[in-house]
Amino acid sequence: MIDIGINLTNKRFNKDLDQVITNAKQAGVNALMVTGTSIQESQQALTLCRHYPDYLFCTAGIHPHDASTFDTQSLAHLRLLASNSCVKAIGECGLDFNRNFSTPAEQEHAFVQQLELAVELQLPVFMHERDANQRFITLLKPYISQLPNAVLHCFTGSQADLEACLALDLHIGITGWICDERRGIDLIDLVKLIPAERLMIETDAPYLLPRSMRPKPKSSRNEPKYLPYIAQAIANARGESLKQLVQQTEQNSKLFFKI
Ligand SMILES: [Zn+2]
Repeated sequence: MIDIGINLTNKRFNKDLDQVITNAKQAGVNALMVTGTSIQESQQALTLCRHYPDYLFCTAGIHPHDASTFDTQSLAHLRLLASNSCVKAIGECGLDFNRNFSTPAEQEHAFVQQLELAVELQLPVFMHERDANQRFITLLKPYISQLPNAVLHCFTGSQADLEACLALDLHIGITGWICDERRGIDLIDLVKLIPAERLMIETDAPYLLPRSMRPKPKSSRNEPKYLPYIAQAIANARGESLKQLVQQTEQNSKLFFKI
């Protein structure tokens, strides 16, 4: 299986990164897609990829929370980063009107610029959306036919949101949110609606430790080694075997990111 969204540059992984990666391999995770969320983090993600070749790959992009940092130099920086063969997608980019750490106008500008860059470079996009589905769809729609591939990661929206995404041929990334007995209940029904060839899995670690794990891990830090647990929860929700789910999503991820 492949973890398509892991924030491995987060400082919570600084001390024991080697161990985290060894544990992920032992758990059957065959590749990690490290998420770039700013110019600096994307650069760090690329540096990590060089230390673990053919196991780590990364994205290069500016997260909607960091959209206020998007300036006249950003595209040139991202273009340079993306010229490296470890960089497999543009992102994390998109819209997050849940917390508005950057203004909606800044977020929309940064998102559209990155969509244009992905079209120019013919790279897939790795996208984020919270509480902004309509604007997200509106901005993405003109670019979708020109993009090689596009995924909305960590999907947590409504059925209408999901249907709008699937109508644009998006891939959908599902995290351990589905294991959350408070917030993840709707997702258990919605994952059945995702066509098998569009589904991918991710931890979004160190965030979103699956809440239903028993015994509960001592640390609240999520890790890629917990991906099998998330895969099992998704397989259960879809009425599929773990093996079937793992094989299909791994194949989807390989085709999507060309790894
Ligand atoms: Zn995200």
